[in-house]
Amino acid sequence: MKEVFRLFPMYFQFMQNEDSPYYQGQRAIMCSELKAKGLAGDAVLNAMNRIPRHLFLESSFHQHAYQDKAFPIAAGQTISHPSTVAWQSELLELRPGMKVLEIGTGSGYQAAVLCELGIKLFSIERQKALFDFSKKMLTALGYRAELKFGDGFKGMPVFAPFDRVIVTCGAPFVPKALLAQLIEGGIMIIPVGEGTQKMVKITKQADGSFVQKVLGDAAFVPMLKDRE
Ligand code: SAH
Repeated sequence: MKEVFRLFPMYFQFMQNEDSPYYQGQRAIMCSELKAKGLAGDAVLNAMNRIPRHLFLESSFHQHAYQDKAFPIAAGQTISHPSTVAWQSELLELRPGMKVLEIGTGSGYQAAVLCELGIKLFSIERQKALFDFSKKMLTALGYRAELKFGDGFKGMPVFAPFDRVIVTCGAPFVPKALLAQLIEGGIMIIPVGEGTQKMVKITKQADGSFVQKVLGDAAFVPMLKDRE
């Protein structure tokens, strides 16, 4: 982590604060609390323990960053609860090297967790301010991902098929384009519903059909069409 600042001093000002033993301690407590909730296994929780979540928030929220809370980010959006990030990451059943498409880059925090898990990430965000912020932050932290400013309803057909698709905004319905971009045997984790949502796991079968399983309640900001 410290090397980032030595190698890229220009990011020092942008990041305002680097990681610190204080935040590392807070983070370790957060991860052990998440473990107690049983939402995710060690691989996901160890990844979350390596990521300075506070840097994805405005500085006024830094000291609260390791509580299991959602916080406002730019453009009226929110960073997901750590428990939601842990849960969705676990549900994806990731293996290193997989191609994963994320809809709703937002702050970039969920994206960082996925990158830490050794997958190849493709992520779409429709708010320019968040696209710009997450791109800078993920780059500053050394994560490589294919980030797109665009409409997640369309997916990224150029890079399809994907082993996994994770939607981190509340979808009014399951977008057909995203189903089409899933590989056979692939898994999509998507919160579906207007207002509040149900977390749904969709698995694409060898014959191209889909099996859906409803997993529990979710509350994300809405998935909206087009670019803002
Ligand atoms: N994964 C994010 C969660 C951010 S909230 C994080 O870790 O911070 C959900 C995000 O989805 C918002 O940034 C919102 O702008 C974005 N979003 C909503 N509809 C979208 C769409 N159609 N395509 C891409 N992003 C979308």
